[in-house]
Formats: sequence, C-alpha cells, structure tokens
Amino acid sequence: RRVLLTGANGFLGSHILSELLNNGFFVRGVVRSQSKADQIAKDFPSFKSQLDFGIVPDMTVPGAFDKVVKATPPFDAVLHQASPFLFSVIGSNSEFLDPAVKGTTEILKAIKAHAPEVKRVIYTSSCAAVLNFDAPVETTPQKVYTEEDWYPITYSQALVGSKAEAYRASKKFAELAAWDFVKTEKPNFDFVSLNPPMIYGPLKHTVSNIKDVNESNARIYSNFINSKKDAPLPPNGVHMYVDVRDLAVAHVRAVTTPEAGGQRIIVSSKKASSQDISNILRKSFPELEERTPIGTPETDSLPEGAYTISNEKVKKLLGLDFRSDEECFVELGRQLLEIEKAS
Ligand code: NDP
Repeated sequence: RRVLLTGANGFLGSHILSELLNNGFFVRGVVRSQSKADQIAKDFPSFKSQLDFGIVPDMTVPGAFDKVVKATPPFDAVLHQASPFLFSVIGSNSEFLDPAVKGTTEILKAIKAHAPEVKRVIYTSSCAAVLNFDAPVETTPQKVYTEEDWYPITYSQALVGSKAEAYRASKKFAELAAWDFVKTEKPNFDFVSLNPPMIYGPLKHTVSNIKDVNESNARIYSNFINSKKDAPLPPNGVHMYVDVRDLAVAHVRAVTTPEAGGQRIIVSSKKASSQDISNILRKSFPELEERTPIGTPETDSLPEGAYTISNEKVKKLLGLDFRSDEECFVELGRQLLEIEKAS
C-alpha cells in the first residue's frame, strides 16, 4: 500500500514513518525543504525503494499540495500531521493558527481534486482540541474526557489569547475544518482524527543540539533534567501522555482498520504527574541527583480528583496496548542526556 505522510521529519512524524516502512508501506514524506528530505533519507538508509519525498515550503498557499498528492500508482491513504508546535519559533498567534487550519484544508482540497483514489485521510489532532483548559483540574465527581468533548475556545479568543491558547485552538479549528470539509464536500475518502495528549518518548530523527528538541520532550528536559533538586516541581500542564511509539502504531492501525473510518479517537495511555516523572528519572539516573526537582517522592503531586482521559475507544477499535512509564521516560532521559553532551 502507498501513503503520503506530512511532517515526516518531526518527532512523531519520524516514528510514524518508521512504523509504516517496517510494515511494508511505500511512503512519500512531505517536508518543507530538500535538506530535510535528505536528512530523512540518511536516517532511514535501508528503505530507499519504499520512500520518496515531496517538498511543500508553505502549506498555507492555495494549491500547496496539488503536485505532491499525485502519484503513479496513486496513494491509498494520507496522514497529515505537520503543524506548528515549537513555541520558541512562533512570533504571533496566527503563526500557530494559519498553518494548522489552512494546511489541513489545503491538503483535503488537493486530495479531492487530484487524488480521487485516496480512500482515507488521517489527521493528527490533539487532546488540546478535547480538554477544557479553563475548568478546574480537580472535580467531584472526577471528570473523564471522551471523544464527545471539545475545548470551548472561540477563534477570536485564540487570536488575542496566550500562545498556549493559540496552539490548542489551532488543533481544534484544524480538526473542525476537516470534519466540516468531509461533511460538505463529500469526497471519496473517509476521515479519522487521532487525538493524543502529551507525547513523550525517544527520538527517531537526528537532533544534534538540545535546543532543537521538539516541544513536549524539550519541556521534560528543561523542567526535569536541566533544573535543580530543590526547585519546586514544575506545574503539570496536561498530566496525561502517550508514548510516541504506541501512537505511531495507532496511526498505522488507523490506516489498516476499516472500522476506524469516520471516527474521532483519543490515543492516551495514562497519567504522568510531575512527581511520577521526577521519581522515574531520579531513580534511573544517579547523575540527575542534583538536577531533577525532588518534590515529595512518596506523595503524588496531582490531586486525587484530577481529570482523566478515556482510552476505551482506541483499545477497542485499534486494539492498542501501551508501554510502561519506565520504558518511555528512561529511554527519553538517556537520549536527552546524550544530546546534551553532544550539543
Ligand atoms: P515536531 O515539531 O517535531 O514536528 C512538527 C512537524 O510539523 C515537523 O515536520 C515540522 O516541520 C512541521 N511543521 C511545523 N510547522 C510547520 C509549518 N508552519 N508549515 C509546515 N510544516 C510545519 O512536533 P511533534 O512531532 O511533536 O508534532 C507532530 C504533530 O503531533 C503535530 O500535529 C502536533 O500538533 C501533534 N501533537 C503533538 C503533541 C506532543 O506532545 N508532541 C501532543 C499532541 C499533538 P519543520 O521541521 O520544517 O519545522
């Protein structure tokens, strides 16, 4: 089978690419420049015959994807997950919102017009589009978020709000635009939205400077590795996570599972409170003794009634299992320390 994957050079993108290639797919990776394509080719040297590239420098331009969606033989499915998330490179709220929303509508338009053989489009949304960030973390009874929930921000609030609000809204309005497109345009493909909370785990793409680590893992580095033993435990923004490798498996199953069509699917493993993350890192890396905030190791930093996110649907529909917290945070911690040393 043949698929197109946007953002193939990123943290999650390179894991999805690896999972697709290892499952025998032919993949066209779409990136913003030739040098990024060359780096992927270097990172995946044994898959030359299963991989080619499309360059789309700016996905907000009308017709941006018209050329890359065309292929002989044609693509069966498209996975769209390129979207801005690295806060340090964002100057204004529209730099989050525009590429997310226009990138999504542009690729859907291009597929409808130029790649009618595509049967499925999978969009990587986020629990940012699901959670209500204005609600208290702790409630009685405990709030359990499901696929029915949406972050209740408006577009105009997002334009003038904080960067964090703009990012979350970018995921919400991109996902909504896709559902609307499918409803009104009735294309040949069906649509699947995958909604992960925080994504953590080891990096598959080449990152040679600690400053270039992706947003979610960069937060683990600055809050838990490049800190101090007696620093207060960092606030635990979204305390639910999924290992990047499990999420990559979910993306491939979203391509191969017919029943996933038309579904919004949360892909969340479990909670990881700041205390949980600190405990694992301090236990596994003696060199972090003075660098990782200790908190109070025997007490959880999250209140008992803190919200949770259901993963019933993804377990049932995609048969997904999840790695342990140790597998995720120990492998990530080791790698971040290595990148730090090489930086
Ligand atoms: P990365 O920053 O590692 O990857 C993002 C990808 O999107 C890169 O390929 C990047 O390309 C591309 N991209 C970023 N901005 C633009 C833009 N303006 N135009 C075109 N392409 C762009 O992040 P992740 O791998 O973490 O994120 C992948 C997806 O997962 C995103 O959709 C994100 O919203 C979603 N997500 C991530 C979570 C996390 O915790 N990491 C949580 C929930 C959802 P380039 O290298 O050229 O910048």
